[in-house]
Amino acid sequence: MTARGRRPLIAGNWKLHNTIAETVALCRALRNELAGALDAEVVVAPVYTALAAARDALDGSRIEVAAQDCHWEPKGAFTGAVAVSLLADAGAKWIIVGHSERRQLFGETDEAVRKKTAAVLTGGVTPIVCVGETLAERERGKTLEVVLGQLDGALAGLAPEQVAHVVVAYEPVWAIGTGRNASPGDAEEVHRAIRGRLAASAGAQVADGVRILYGGSVKPDNARALLAEPDIDGALVGGASLAVDSFVAIVRAVR
Ligand code: PEP
Repeated sequence: MTARGRRPLIAGNWKLHNTIAETVALCRALRNELAGALDAEVVVAPVYTALAAARDALDGSRIEVAAQDCHWEPKGAFTGAVAVSLLADAGAKWIIVGHSERRQLFGETDEAVRKKTAAVLTGGVTPIVCVGETLAERERGKTLEVVLGQLDGALAGLAPEQVAHVVVAYEPVWAIGTGRNASPGDAEEVHRAIRGRLAASAGAQVADGVRILYGGSVKPDNARALLAEPDIDGALVGGASLAVDSFVAIVRAVR
């Protein structure tokens, strides 16, 4: 628990990597390395086809499983889609929604992110809602407008009690998979603005409790400085979560 009363969360996004066997091996290695007391909650997001195997491999450990996306409808003629209840059935306690790769490569809109966030909450699963600006938007001075607009879009219509169950991930698009991370100060400025917007829409008490993760080239050598910022409550980690040593080092950077 931090001095702010929010439990740090480190989430690994494994994207389109690893077979079932590779996922299980990674899960086993992580549970061995992270067997003792942890200062952070730890979550890993394998591909859909490896979710149940990851759940089983992590059973009895402190590491939980997330899905990388979902569909908002519970069932029906939606070829290729996977509903929240099915992801929960496979072991997902968390679901990432609105990742910039979904927005940019698959045309996901704020409205789709809103429907997914609501469906995840209704399904009793915790959404990790991603927001973030592109480099062009940052250079035009539009960072807060874009990020807060995406946040408003994702959370529209939710009651404050529902917002209390959301995790937000600030992931500047220009920092994802590029090796270029936001400076702790720049990231903190956006995190503070996100918390301020949450306070305005859902009340200060809810805003104080919501965890806001930073994502974008988090590595063992920059994690500690990022996580030391008062409004950075954890990290969403892509590339560095695929190797046991680097992911464990990031988890251990939480103090
Ligand atoms: C991500 O995919 O959410 C991410 C932050 O990736 P990376 O850590 O590789 O930049």
